[in-house]
Amino acid sequence: MKQETIHPDIPSQIVDIWQRIVDSISILLSVPSLMINKLEGPELEVFRSNDNPDNPFPSGTRMLKAGVYCEYTARTGKKNRVVDARKDPLWVNSPTAKAGIYAYLGFPVYWPDGKVFGTICAIDTKENQWITPSDSLLLTIKDAVEAHLALVAAMDELSKRNEEVHQLAITDSLTGLYNRRHFFELAEHEFQRARRFRCSLSAIMLDIDFFKKVNDTHGHQIGDKVLLALAECCRESTRRVDVLGRYGGEEFVILLPQADFAATYKIAERLRQSIEKMTIDTEAGPVKVTASFGVSTMEDECSMLETLLKKADSALFKAKRNGRNCICGD
Ligand code: GH3
Ligand code: MG
Ligand code: MG
Repeated sequence: MKQETIHPDIPSQIVDIWQRIVDSISILLSVPSLMINKLEGPELEVFRSNDNPDNPFPSGTRMLKAGVYCEYTARTGKKNRVVDARKDPLWVNSPTAKAGIYAYLGFPVYWPDGKVFGTICAIDTKENQWITPSDSLLLTIKDAVEAHLALVAAMDELSKRNEEVHQLAITDSLTGLYNRRHFFELAEHEFQRARRFRCSLSAIMLDIDFFKKVNDTHGHQIGDKVLLALAECCRESTRRVDVLGRYGGEEFVILLPQADFAATYKIAERLRQSIEKMTIDTEAGPVKVTASFGVSTMEDECSMLETLLKKADSALFKAKRNGRNCICGD
């Protein structure tokens, strides 16, 4: 099914300008309503209309678009000029004419992708010849509104791209975990918070055992698959508040706010077992790996994040020396 385009909201600064435009032009043309309308699905929303107590269509009015002048304007994509609906066979029986709106001048308004935003229109409760200045004024507003819509769409696109670039800059492309640099940024923040509020903070450092052998036996691509599976396992075994990063090639780090040594050791053990039990299906057949773990907790004398991580790293080194697939604490 074709996905419907979602257009961005109109920022309040632009809405304010549109309000001033409809207010002043309605006075200039001496009409009861001058509106910028939004057409969405079966509905018409009077998005901005002149702020005047006699206006029959104030901002925010909603109606079904079927049979109203604006729907015709948007559908035909052309200027729609109705001088007196009572004398116009196309409109004499329309619901709008029956409601006493006899004259209409409107233009369609488009998003830059060509989709209809809505219309800009003036209406009158009596016959109106819509002499020349009305046309050019409304056309000028159409151009201004469309220029604003182009700006809004471009800004929206830019902020989406910025977000994508930001995500690329902070994540490791293979595993989707935070890269080392961003891990340190987040970890530093957590470290300062833990120190200020005197909360626990712990770290787990883990390294895949004999990973070089996986690459040597099955190739780098299979090695990558194992790294991805391991990252997924880490994600599943940790809490949302934990900060996960790819620390090096086949080394991962987890920072655990509000977790003391015992709790952290438990999480590490759970993760160690999950990795041990995991079978990774690859093109080269099932692959199994284990990992070694170093666990550390922030103590009073720990004044730097680096100290906490260094302690986890040296505990990891100990775990490797102790035969791997085990946990050591510092
Ligand atoms: P140990 O148990 O002592 O940790 O042994 P090991 O083989 O895991 O450790 P070693 O440091 O000797 O080898 C790590 C290997 O990880 C070597 C390197 O090619 C591989 N590696 C690092 N980054 C990547 C990566 O992104 N993809 C793949 N496939 N391999 C990687
Ligand atoms: Mg290793
Ligand atoms: Mg290593």
